[in-house]
Amino acid sequence: MRLAGAHAAVRRIWTVELRARAGGPSLVCPHCVARTRPLKAASARSAALAHLACHARTDALPGHLRTCQCRARGCSWHPRHRGCDGPVLLALTRDRTGRVWRLADTCAACAAATSSTAVVPDTLLGPRPPRPAARTTRPACSARPLGPAERTRVREMLTYLATALPRFTSPAARLLALQCALRCDTHGQARLPAGLLHGMRLRGHREMWEELAQAGWLVLPDLRPTPVTVQLLDATVLGQPAGRRARHRAAHWALRPAPLLLPPAAPLALRLTALVLAAHSSAHTEHGTDMDVLARLCGHSPQQTGELFDRLVATLTLKAWSHNRETDEVVWQLAPAMEATQSLTALQTPGTAV
Ligand SMILES: [Zn+2]
Ligand SMILES: [Zn+2]
Ligand SMILES: [Zn+2]
Repeated sequence: MRLAGAHAAVRRIWTVELRARAGGPSLVCPHCVARTRPLKAASARSAALAHLACHARTDALPGHLRTCQCRARGCSWHPRHRGCDGPVLLALTRDRTGRVWRLADTCAACAAATSSTAVVPDTLLGPRPPRPAARTTRPACSARPLGPAERTRVREMLTYLATALPRFTSPAARLLALQCALRCDTHGQARLPAGLLHGMRLRGHREMWEELAQAGWLVLPDLRPTPVTVQLLDATVLGQPAGRRARHRAAHWALRPAPLLLPPAAPLALRLTALVLAAHSSAHTEHGTDMDVLARLCGHSPQQTGELFDRLVATLTLKAWSHNRETDEVVWQLAPAMEATQSLTALQTPGTAV
């Protein structure tokens, strides 16, 4: 008899369902039926995520005891499989109807192979923020160059937003949501300076704000005063632990995501694609990620995403890219000029992150 057997059986799956009711949708959780109550329609989606996050926080388990729940069910959550691989993470999956949400311990490989699934970053669900006393002992990090930490944080937030936002959210709205999520304070308020919106070529555009408001992700802000003050409704983003300074740095990096730099006037769909690739690029010359993952983050079909990669090659941002249809892996190489930029930015120290 294996003693570890008892641990291997630990079930780490939580689901909630949003049920339509006369007084607005209500949240049904099999773990805590008593707390079911009607919700405001706009906030239903984020309430579901926040509820699941709460369970994951409460039922915390040491890392070495966590196992891939997908594998425990014969990998029935996804079509193809190359075997469990990578760390066990919390994966958030939305079903086809968009009403049932599942949060489960899943290995990185299974999470990547499952559709409508995002890895929920530790920075969103992790333990509560460290005490201020502990923070003051940390060395100041403002002199550190923007790089791997910011890239990871942006990748995590893009991954989260790919699931939290409706599937057909436009590239403009995705880029805007990313800035808001990374810049918001503990009350879920983000202030976007006029210069930032202008630099992103988003100033004066009302439609992407309306898109995010319709998705129940934020309250439609008054766009006349500057900076624009936005109130976010996504309870998961709102519950982010401290580290606002680090998030600001990530927001700053996302505006010029080295090594994939495009002219500011480049179309938004192309800029989002470059950002997604930059967030998945490392110090190596060749970079690879599943097409399914990249397409989901770009908010396009795999075919459209491939066309956008072609345009990055045409603008000399990428040297080449290829898609292995058997494994679904996309491999890309940066254009030589971009490789040079990468080594340059690694040496640079940033100005103040605004
Ligand atoms: Zn519950
Ligand atoms: Zn699996
Ligand atoms: Zn697995």
